[in-house]
Amino acid sequence: MYMRIGIFGGAFNPPHIGHVGAAKAAAEQYELDLLLVIPTGTPPHKQLPPNTPDAQMRLQMTRDAFCKLPFAKVSDMEIFSRKYNYTIDTVALLEREYPGAQFFLPVGTDMYETLSSWKDSDALLKIVTPVVLSRAVVDISSSELREMLPQRKGCEFILDLNYSFIIRHRLYDAKPDWDWLRKQAYSMLDARRIPHVTACEAEAVRLAEHWGADPDDAREAAILHDITKKLDFSENMCIISKHGMATDMYNVSEEKLLHSITGALLAQSEFGVSDAVFDAIKWHTTGRAGMSLLEKVIYIADYIESTRDFNGVKALRKLAYESIDDAMISGLEMTVSDLKSRGIAPDIKTNEAIASLVLRKDTIK
Ligand code: FE
Ligand code: FE
Repeated sequence: MYMRIGIFGGAFNPPHIGHVGAAKAAAEQYELDLLLVIPTGTPPHKQLPPNTPDAQMRLQMTRDAFCKLPFAKVSDMEIFSRKYNYTIDTVALLEREYPGAQFFLPVGTDMYETLSSWKDSDALLKIVTPVVLSRAVVDISSSELREMLPQRKGCEFILDLNYSFIIRHRLYDAKPDWDWLRKQAYSMLDARRIPHVTACEAEAVRLAEHWGADPDDAREAAILHDITKKLDFSENMCIISKHGMATDMYNVSEEKLLHSITGALLAQSEFGVSDAVFDAIKWHTTGRAGMSLLEKVIYIADYIESTRDFNGVKALRKLAYESIDDAMISGLEMTVSDLKSRGIAPDIKTNEAIASLVLRKDTIK
């Protein structure tokens, strides 16, 4: 028996569950031994859109999308080529690589109708049997997804491995779906901390809207601000050195501060957050001189969110909506005196933050 091989070409820009469903259906229906998934280079009939990720990334996404299908093999025979790849040329190469095989070419209905106009269609149709690709499984297209991703939509049509990759690199200007992001963040937390993070998110959005910071940035920073909180000192150090930062500046006594730095690093490397969100996470424990509005929003939201219960929290909550700078000074000073009462020296950044806010207040007067 000769091998039955399906040739599944496409831009996979990005791949989605419709591609995978169609691949499964074709393999079953035509009893394929092998499905060659071939991401296109630059197809002759259609230039790829401007925000197309580079070939290496598109190849990675296609591999990730089909990795669970044992009969599928992703081929890079077209994706790196800069010239046009006509189906007949690819098929001729495959004929030499798999002598005697029977080739099937699954194509969409629209493509099927144009087959006779393809380059060397007579020769092509002698080698391959075109079959209509089932579209009924999932009705979504990559171009629709490219429009949805920047609106925080479309996550349900994309395999999780692909979606994580797209968000990590912010491909297609994608922004994370909120429920997806919460799920990722909460899975990294101690279960006890989830109510704090949920409440912090609500408070951060409220504060951002009140003071004119970007509420989406505030939400993203709040959801992610404590993602490394449950890691121990050596795990935190691992993240620091993995990101090429010097580890000799830190010691065990600063363990509590480390989670802000490593949280920011992971938020950027795993979830592709902007520099503004990175800084808001990085400075949420100590503060620093010259904090941005978003940094203050996250610092205060972390301090006053609805599950917090300490002497003076009510007054601080009120103050946060009257003057965010006064609330910052108050919060930072409470932190300093709390640390001192426990015999811990406050971080120098905290004192610098207070000094810079006090100076700012005096200048404004
Ligand atoms: Fe924290
Ligand atoms: Fe926190």
